[in-house]
This record gives sequence, structure tokens and C-alpha cells, in this order.
Amino acid sequence: MTLTLFTQCRQCSKNLRGRTDKKFCDDHCRNQFNNRVKAAPNNLVRNINHALTKNRRILESIIAEGPALVKVTRENLLQEGFQFRFITHLNTHKAGTVYYCCYDYAYLLLEEEEVLIVQLQT
Ligand SMILES: [Zn+2]
Repeated sequence: MTLTLFTQCRQCSKNLRGRTDKKFCDDHCRNQFNNRVKAAPNNLVRNINHALTKNRRILESIIAEGPALVKVTRENLLQEGFQFRFITHLNTHKAGTVYYCCYDYAYLLLEEEEVLIVQLQT
């Protein structure tokens, strides 16, 4: 015997007729349901991608103006809209120093609210 988990459409809650494994009235309800379920994670991914892209653009603009290794203050970056909580990966050096990476750029948190920015060799 097959248990019927959904006797109502998962989108509009109308009673379903026909096959017991049916979950939706029709394609319209199926599409609406799937769009609703996907919307939240899609927004999250879009927002994080946007923040990472912006972080990279900020680091790139700072490096572009100077040498391949630049020291700025944490406040400088915040004013540009940099969001420290978004990084792509960590890069640990032999000495145990941890660089926070944003694609092909990385930064090191120094004392006194200073940040060392470097461009990674790709
Ligand atoms: Zn429906």
C-alpha cells in the first residue's frame, strides 16, 4: 500500500484528484511552488556574490593605484563599502600567517586597525 503524503496541491491547497503521487494541480502550480522555494537561496547567493565582487573591486582599485602590496586602514576599506565577513578562501603561509582572500587578492589584518593588501600570483 502506498501512503499518500499530499492530498492537496502544495501550492494552492486545492484537493487533488487522480494519481496518488500527484503534488500539484498543474504545471502552473508546480512552477509557482518551485519558484517560491528557489527564491530565498537564489537571493542569498546573489547577495553574497555581489558582496564578493564588490570587495574584489575595492581591493583591485587600491592595488591598481599603488605597488603590489599596500597598507591601508580598516576604516579606509569600510568607507569604500568593503564587507570583511565575505571572503572566498583562506591562505595560510608557512609562518602560520593567515591571509583572507577575495579571489586573486588577499589581505592580512595587522595591528592598530591596519590592513595589508596583496595581489596573489595566479
Ligand atoms: Zn494548485
